[in-house]
Amino acid sequence: MNKKVLRSLSYGVYVISTLDGERHTGCIANSAMQITSSPASIAVSINHDNYTNSCIEKCGKFAVSILSEASDPGLIGTFGFHSGKDTDKFSDVKHHVIDGIAVPDDSCGYIVCKVTGKLETSTHTIFLGEMTEGDVLSETAPMTYAYYHNVVKGKSPKNAPTYLPEEDSATSSSGKKWVCGICGYVYEGSVPFEELPDSYICPVCKQPKSKFKAV
Ligand code: FE
Repeated sequence: MNKKVLRSLSYGVYVISTLDGERHTGCIANSAMQITSSPASIAVSINHDNYTNSCIEKCGKFAVSILSEASDPGLIGTFGFHSGKDTDKFSDVKHHVIDGIAVPDDSCGYIVCKVTGKLETSTHTIFLGEMTEGDVLSETAPMTYAYYHNVVKGKSPKNAPTYLPEEDSATSSSGKKWVCGICGYVYEGSVPFEELPDSYICPVCKQPKSKFKAV
């Protein structure tokens, strides 16, 4: 069985946000889809280990913000490579609160849903939601998961449904590549990595230069 075929499925990159009590929180998901048009319903797949999962369960509402190709990759770092348990993810992210749920401004648009059902798998919960709010924020092309891999050079957080273990070792053996040990971003700038200032930070997850490793 060649699991790489799963990469041929098309996905976007989304911030799934909800409430942790009074506090806004969220995570990155790539598995979101429209299920019905009337009433408009959306399904999202969230790993059991994501703090956002239990928050959606308690809150009963979530928002899907559709990242664009122009969205700051740092959003993926903030929402995808940190836990909302110990990080206030919206503290430095420009956002609006729609129907009680925070949605980042830097996206193509958002869909707010109330949870109407769920399906448990061994690792993920598929939340079904009926759309209660939504708007288009930008006409920029939505970021596809392929774009994220090929252009942003990012990898899948371990909790993503599309995560493949071989991504951890996916680099060439010849020559040095500097890879962020947190998010998997591969440095490809014109300045040799060793000559970058110590203040350099990963453009995706904002971790310091010291988190990069040569592979
Ligand atoms: Fe990183």
